[in-house]
Amino acid sequence: QDSPANHLIQLHEGAQKLYHHILMNTEIGQPALDYLHQRGLTDKTIEDFGLGFAPDQQLLKQYFDQQKVDYQELRHTGLFIENQSGELRDRFFNRVMYPIKNESGQPIAFSGRLLVKADDQPKYLNSPETDIFNKRRVLFNFDQARNVIRKEGAVILFEGFMDVMSAHQSGVGNGVASMGTSLTEEQIYAMQRVTKQVYVCYDGDTPGQRATNRALTILRDNSSLALGVIQMPEGMDPDEYRKKYGEEKLASALQSARETPIAFAMHYLKSEHDVNTDAGRLEYIDQVLNLLATVTSPVEQDVYLTQLANEYQLDKGSLK
Ligand code: ATP
Ligand code: MN
Ligand code: MN
Ligand code: MN
Repeated sequence: QDSPANHLIQLHEGAQKLYHHILMNTEIGQPALDYLHQRGLTDKTIEDFGLGFAPDQQLLKQYFDQQKVDYQELRHTGLFIENQSGELRDRFFNRVMYPIKNESGQPIAFSGRLLVKADDQPKYLNSPETDIFNKRRVLFNFDQARNVIRKEGAVILFEGFMDVMSAHQSGVGNGVASMGTSLTEEQIYAMQRVTKQVYVCYDGDTPGQRATNRALTILRDNSSLALGVIQMPEGMDPDEYRKKYGEEKLASALQSARETPIAFAMHYLKSEHDVNTDAGRLEYIDQVLNLLATVTSPVEQDVYLTQLANEYQLDKGSLK
């Protein structure tokens, strides 16, 4: 079918092939390939995700010019930046390129990661929205994960693309990520079509914990999905955990480090209060009680009340 959308997808397929070829087979791609290997990604993972490298030489523009691709069409890909005189220049350069794919596995956008940290440039740069790329609708890796999600009966929501790839390489294929933004209704809808259970596995650092809290609220308010949290230890993200402890350890942590949203909320509330002061502790207890008041299962409520009572030597009856 030769619709404008299909043509945009074909251009992205061309770009992906070029970026991938540069990464795998050329001298200018070598530092990027070394970088990915150093981070512990295998060639299989690099192939599975179609990773590439965008060098510094306006290569994509030259490539499309050779193929005589129309100027207006190039403008609509989002892969170029237009200067004042209307000249197009490659949007992505000196970046490792992660293709963003639609549900059919076709590339519709890119995210590019800097090889070397620079203060004046964002670590990740994404394609702008185009006729084929609506970032509210896309879940990274949903195309590959969908069948695994069905089989496992659950989806794991990660914070970063690297975490999704790390899990995939560790044999955990039901991971997806949103586009570095908070979760949207469209993404929730996509997950809900294939499963009833979602685990949120964001970074173990403070921003990651805050984002977890936010994601749980959004999921609770907008879906009927059963919720769980996977806690990465030591403030790490899943990719750092794999790098430090290996693939098997990551795979088993993703299984075993699971907790209920209430257990997560209790940890989270505790971290947000100074429980060593009377005032902080009282406020923490008050907020936990408010939270537990929303728990409909009497048994579940009792479990956490007992926990709270034991933690601060309180009388369970008075808490109740
Ligand atoms: P890496 O391991 O490659 O450093 P990460 O996934 O651990 O990356 P985080 O800093 O934890 O990166 O951010 C999580 C996600 O948020 C990223 O995968 C990316 O999608 C998005 N993100 C991070 N920084 C930026 C940025 N400067 N601009 C846009 N998106 C970003
Ligand atoms: Mn993070
Ligand atoms: Mn991270
Ligand atoms: Mn990371």
